[in-house]
Amino acid sequence: MSEPSPAGVRAHDAGDAPSGAPEPASRRLPSVDAVLKTEAARAARERHGRAATTAAVRTVIDGARATARGAPPAAPLAPEALGAEALALLDAAAAPSLKPVLNLTGTVLHTNLGRAILAEEAVAAATVAMRQAVALEFDLSGGKRGERDDHVRALLLELTGAEAATVVNNNAAAVLITLNTLAADRDSIVSRGELIEIGGAFRMPEIMARAGTRLREIGTTNRTHLRDYEGALTAETGLILKVHTSNYRIEGFTAEVSARDLADLARAHGVPLVNDLGSGTLCDLSAYGLVHEPTVREAVAEGADIVTFSGDKLLGGPQTGFIVGRAELIARINKNPMKRALRVDKIRLAALEATLKLYRDPDRLAARLPTLRFLTRKAADLAAEAERLAPEVAARLGAGFTVSVVACRSQIGSGALPLETLESAGLALRPASGSGRALAALSDALRRLPVPVIGRVDDQALVLDLRCLDDGAALLAALDALPREARHGLA
Ligand SMILES: *Cc1c(COP(=O)(O)O)cnc(C)c1O
Repeated sequence: MSEPSPAGVRAHDAGDAPSGAPEPASRRLPSVDAVLKTEAARAARERHGRAATTAAVRTVIDGARATARGAPPAAPLAPEALGAEALALLDAAAAPSLKPVLNLTGTVLHTNLGRAILAEEAVAAATVAMRQAVALEFDLSGGKRGERDDHVRALLLELTGAEAATVVNNNAAAVLITLNTLAADRDSIVSRGELIEIGGAFRMPEIMARAGTRLREIGTTNRTHLRDYEGALTAETGLILKVHTSNYRIEGFTAEVSARDLADLARAHGVPLVNDLGSGTLCDLSAYGLVHEPTVREAVAEGADIVTFSGDKLLGGPQTGFIVGRAELIARINKNPMKRALRVDKIRLAALEATLKLYRDPDRLAARLPTLRFLTRKAADLAAEAERLAPEVAARLGAGFTVSVVACRSQIGSGALPLETLESAGLALRPASGSGRALAALSDALRRLPVPVIGRVDDQALVLDLRCLDDGAALLAALDALPREARHGLA
């Protein structure tokens, strides 16, 4: 056991104090105390606290000592330099890891960039819920306990025509709890053409196994008939599952059974039909000039007993999953103990309620809901914006690059309408040297900006699709921070 140190002095400090002792390294280093007295260290203490500042100063001194060891003799290091280094270290560590970025990939609902951007109404509602106590599960009229679904249930019924509704963490959770509730230890019949994988981690056969239901796959990859479903129905059947093949299409010699026909078959055999719509949408996208995507209302009207869909895909809200359908089935799902593990918090629920309310006014939906606003922007408007920005962007990149306005195609993303791309426009940044290394270096430099700019490499160019850029000035401000080397295309 070592002796306790005198009050206020840690044993470690003694070793650091140079107090006349010769530095073993070939370069003299200032003491911790000397560095702590610098202006930068004072600023660091102010911003990050005393303990963190002292630790950072030790770290930079240790680093300098390691560098100096064995190196040729050099002038003593100024405390100011080390103080500034410590401050930079602390500032970098304090910056959020979850950084806002400019999504110029051309994919509107980019899963890796957080999918839907929320409407201002949703942001405001979520902010209130974060700051204050809210009547989350509290019935204000009766003073009794309420349910969190109460806040969105009526809206969901109004918007989908369903009899009952509940909300969970995401659509994966919606599918999981539905299968587990309605078909644990029983068969779930699904077409081989619909055994999807979404974004790596969501694979239908694996979800089914975890839900405790037996996958009863039928038909073939390209063709599944009503008789295949009929042949699979037994006393062991828990449900029939129809899955929207969100991120791919099977084309050519194909056959699938419509949800309406499956609903009739399911009803005749007394088993539920579950339709996993994936993205789903609450409005008819063709009314906004987009390709029609099945709406939740249609799926309910076709006779599905349960329909599941996502909150942060085409719907444009926070990450959530919806289960709508027959009241008796929803009641069983709500009694599943898994529900507690999959529920949403007050912040998302507040954002969700505000988002759903926007759907009551379809005329203004495209103006208020960023997802729909981005999807409906006209290529001609984007091209005009690109023309305006091109010289400004070129000036910020310098002589190493050429900037041209290009027509491109945006994707909806998140598995919605995988083959439907949208005519768009953007800026193509090309290194004057034409080298792939310079292009990679530029993408890298843009990704490392304080506000990272994420584009897409296409045909020897870095393409910045302007569809999701709300404010051209934000792009220019982000590029203002480009380091000089990157500007000249030096890899
Ligand atoms: C996206 C998707 C899911 C998963 O939804 P999340 O909201 O990402 O959990 C499940 N099924 C289908 C058909 C999907 O498209």
